[in-house]
Amino acid sequence: MLILRTLSRYSLLLILLASNAGAQDAVPRSTWWRNEYASGSIRGHRAPARDFNGYHSRSWGKNNGATVAGYTSIVWHHTEGVQNTNLVAMALEHRFVKRFCDIGYHFIIKRDGGRWRTFQGTPLGFVGSHCKGENCCRRTGIGRIGIAVAGNFNRDRVDSQLLAEMTRLQDVLVRRYRIREIRTHRLGSFAVNRAGDARDCPGRNMVPVVTSLRRRAESQVR
Ligand SMILES: [Zn+2]
Repeated sequence: MLILRTLSRYSLLLILLASNAGAQDAVPRSTWWRNEYASGSIRGHRAPARDFNGYHSRSWGKNNGATVAGYTSIVWHHTEGVQNTNLVAMALEHRFVKRFCDIGYHFIIKRDGGRWRTFQGTPLGFVGSHCKGENCCRRTGIGRIGIAVAGNFNRDRVDSQLLAEMTRLQDVLVRRYRIREIRTHRLGSFAVNRAGDARDCPGRNMVPVVTSLRRRAESQVR
């Protein structure tokens, strides 16, 4: 029994070491920055060519690069933009227009060369900027993981490959962080931010998908 317990602890440690804070689950920031910086600029701010990992501001901007004690929920968003969105432009907009310390989401799923792929946003462990006043509990330090799907899902539809990618990413995160709650941002009965805002993230066509992902997570954690 002791051997079994030691073994399972050891394998948990290996899993944690291998996870590298989510980098292998998504295209790393350094990779997409290198691929996309040439076409990414916004309102006079040109993207620097250097690695985005050196770009995370811990000294200014909302949330100041604060870290979390853990995560218990995932919040699904859409970007309301194009499906092959330029992530460097998104990063610059979030930092210089919205005044976040970093790109607001932890992951962005976008169209890349004809298929949906997951890209790393704010590194896991940091507080995101994706649901106003709800990104991290001040008392417990427990945060919410923000995932955005590029597109406008009031109009666009979730195809089977996108659903498979959303499910894959959610499964990894649910297991790793023992996520108990799957939420939407503003639309639907389990939205995080609702009152007083007419915006409808993550889109009408995404709400039923998140509903089924929510049921899936509930059955996994129990
Ligand atoms: Zn949103």
